Amino acid sequence: MTPRQKRKHQELEKLFGVDFLPLSKTAPPGPSKMAEIQKEVASCRKCTDLCDRRTQTVFGVGAPRAPLMFVGEAPGADEDLQGEPFVGRAGQLLTRTLEKIGTSRSEVYIANILKCRPPGNRNPNQDEMANCMPYLIQQIKTIRPGAICCMGNIATRALLQTQTGITRLRGKFQVVDGIRFFPTFHPAYILRNMSELKTFEADLRKVCKDVGLLA
Ligand code: URA
Repeated sequence: MTPRQKRKHQELEKLFGVDFLPLSKTAPPGPSKMAEIQKEVASCRKCTDLCDRRTQTVFGVGAPRAPLMFVGEAPGADEDLQGEPFVGRAGQLLTRTLEKIGTSRSEVYIANILKCRPPGNRNPNQDEMANCMPYLIQQIKTIRPGAICCMGNIATRALLQTQTGITRLRGKFQVVDGIRFFPTFHPAYILRNMSELKTFEADLRKVCKDVGLLA
């Protein structure tokens, strides 16, 4: 491990409060593991401000052994109502883009940093992210994706423990503790900046090809 990798590892361990060593060193969890984590999340009351107002928790959706995981920020109003991540306008753009490039939601896994909707769709705060991150880490360890596509600044900063903005990081792989991260724009940003749609599509194509979802 280089000194830089070691520092990153320590930062991630401190944030997540869980072992974040390379996934390949541990045995894959059994199929019931995801259901177990989901049950724990459904009854989580760590962030009172969030859980008092939620309709339900929004755990994650997709293939249990997906080669690629997408991670966003937090559920919005539509996700809170339907209990599924990325089903609102931004989610529909993600779904359409996946289909356009030749894959689909069912071939990947989609989750968020937070499992509860922040009131008024405000940004998640540090405490909320620290409370919720161990659930995401457990999901990652259960799925063992070949890459994690972090969408937007919040997810990228939380997962990579960086202050560098998405514009500089997007479209390039970064390996931390044996986990391959691939930052790209958040689809909600694309809805506001449609001129970046081609870039978003190209990023998704690149990461999907890399993990073998596309030829
Ligand atoms: N934005 C997110 O970051 N996640 C969702 O699930 C929906 C919108």
